Amino acid sequence: MPRLHAIKRRLLVGAALALVAGIAMSVGLGRALYVEQSKSIDRQFRADIDQLSARFEREVLLNLEVLYALKVAVGVLPEMTSARFTSLTRPILDRWSAIQAFAWAPLIDQARLAEFNHRQAKEFQDFSVTEVRADDFVPVKDRDWYVPVQFIEPLLENRAALGFDLASEPSRLTALLKAKESGEMVATAGIRLVQEPGNQKGFLVFAPLYKKTPGSSPGAEANDHYGFINGVFRVGELVEQAVGDALTKDFLFQIHDRTENQELLLYSSGDPDDSRWAPGRRYSSPLIAIAGRQWVVEAVPSRAFIQARRGVLPLFVGAAGSVLVCLVVGYFTLGAKKNAELSAAKAELERISLTDSLTGLANRRHFDAALTREYRRAVRERSTLSLIMIDIDYFKEFNDDYGHPAGDACLVKVAETLAAVFRRPGDLVARYGGEEFAVVLPDTPDASDIAETCRQAIWARAVTHRLSKVADVITISLGVAALAPDRPATPDELVDRADIALYEAKESGRNRVCFAPLSNEAGRNPR
Ligand code: GH3
Ligand code: MG
Ligand code: MG
Repeated sequence: MPRLHAIKRRLLVGAALALVAGIAMSVGLGRALYVEQSKSIDRQFRADIDQLSARFEREVLLNLEVLYALKVAVGVLPEMTSARFTSLTRPILDRWSAIQAFAWAPLIDQARLAEFNHRQAKEFQDFSVTEVRADDFVPVKDRDWYVPVQFIEPLLENRAALGFDLASEPSRLTALLKAKESGEMVATAGIRLVQEPGNQKGFLVFAPLYKKTPGSSPGAEANDHYGFINGVFRVGELVEQAVGDALTKDFLFQIHDRTENQELLLYSSGDPDDSRWAPGRRYSSPLIAIAGRQWVVEAVPSRAFIQARRGVLPLFVGAAGSVLVCLVVGYFTLGAKKNAELSAAKAELERISLTDSLTGLANRRHFDAALTREYRRAVRERSTLSLIMIDIDYFKEFNDDYGHPAGDACLVKVAETLAAVFRRPGDLVARYGGEEFAVVLPDTPDASDIAETCRQAIWARAVTHRLSKVADVITISLGVAALAPDRPATPDELVDRADIALYEAKESGRNRVCFAPLSNEAGRNPR
C-alpha cells in the first residue's frame, strides 16, 4: 500500500511541523513572559536601590551639616584653644558615630613656624610640625606655609596626627586649596583609615575659616583665610546609619568615588568577586555630589534574590503549552492516521471486491458494473459500445490432462495475453467466469479486428494442449457484439448477442471470431 505510506509520511511531516510550530510558540510565550518578569524584577530592584541611595545621600549631607555648624560656631569665638576645641567637639563626636575625628589646622607661614612649634610644645610634649616620609612622621621641609593639625579630637586615638602638615600630602593639599579658593567645604578622595578595624575607608572634609565673612572681595577673602576645621568621616558607618537595616545578603551594595573619571571603591557590603552575584544586573544609581566629589551607589542582586522573585509562570506557560501542543497534535495525528488506514483498507477492500484473485483481471462484479456504466454512456453520447465474449476451447480436457493447478496457470497466461492486447484506458478485460473472459470496449464500432488479434495472441502464446481437437496448443473462440446508438437495447441483450456469436464460433469449429450482426440476422463468420 504505497499510497497509505505516502499519506502517513505526509501526515507525520504535517504533525512534526505543527508540533515544532506549537512548541516554538509556547516556548516563545514562556520566554516573553520570562523577559517581562526579568524587566519587572530589575525595575523593582532599581527603585529599591534608588531609595537606599537617597537615604544614604541624606545621611552624608546631615553629617556634613554638623561640620558646617561647627565651622559657624568657631567663627564667633575670639580665639581657638585646646580646651575650647575639646568642649566644642566632644559632645558631637559622642553622638555622631560616623565622624571619626575633628581637627583644627591653622595656616602657618614659614616665618611663624618656629614660634608655633614652641608654643604648641608647651601644651603637647615633643610637638613639632611633621610630614610623612617613608611611612614615618618627620619634621617638615622648608615651605612657604603649612597647615599643621593644632588640635585633634579625640586626641588619644589620633595623637600621631597632631602636628601633621595637611598641605604636605598631595590629595589633601588639592582639597585644601580648592576649599580655600571656593570658600566651600571640600572632601578628599577616599582614604584608608589606619586606626579603624576592617580597613574601613574614610574621607576628610575641609571647611575653610576666614576672619571676615567670605564673599566681600575674592582677594580679601584669600588674605583673611587663616585655617581649616576638618572632619574625618567613616564611609562604612555612614552606610550603616543610613541603610544598615535594609542591607541583606540578597544584594551587594557599594559606594564608589568617581570624581574626574577616577574610580575608587569606598564601601562594599560584601565580596564583589563572590560568584553568587548575578552578572549583568549591576545597577548604578545616579551620581551624588558630596563636598565637591562625585559618588555613585552601585548594587548587584544575588542570583537567589532574582530566583526568589521570579514566579513559575513563564516555565509553566512554556511547559504546559508544549505538553498541550503535543497532546493536541498527537490526538489529531492518531485520528488522521486511523482515518488514513481506514480509507486505505476501504480502498483495498474495494479493489479486492472488484478483482479476480486468480488472474488479477476485473471480476464478474466489476464487469457488470462497468458494462452498465459504459452502456449508459454509449446511449448518452450516442456512441457504439462493443463487447467480446471469449471462451477457451476444450479446457475441460486440458484440466483432465494436466490437472487443475496447470489449468489455473493456463488461465493466468491467457488473462495476461488478453490484457496485453487492450491498451485503451476505457477498455475493460474481465474474467467472466470459469474459463470465460469478456472485454468491454466503449466507443468501438467494430471489435472484430481486435478480437482476431486476441485469438492470434493466444495461439502465438503456444501453451501445449494435447487433447485439443482444433490444434496442439490452447486456442480461444470469440463472440463479438456491438450496440448501435440508434437502436435501443439493454446491457443484457448485448451480452446475449455476444454469447450467441460465441456459440456460433464454437459450433463452426472453434478457434475463431464470430460477429453478431446488429439486426437479428445470423452472425458473420469466420474471419
Ligand atoms: P468448449 O471448447 O466447448 O468450451 O469445451 P470446454 O471443455 O472448454 O468447456 P466446458 O464448459 O465443458 O468445460 C469448462 C471447464 O473449465 C470445466 C472446468 O473444469 C474448467 N474450469 C472452469 N473454471 C476453472 C478454474 O478456475 N480453474 C481450472 N483449472 N479449471 C476451470
Ligand atoms: Mg465455457
Ligand atoms: Mg470452453
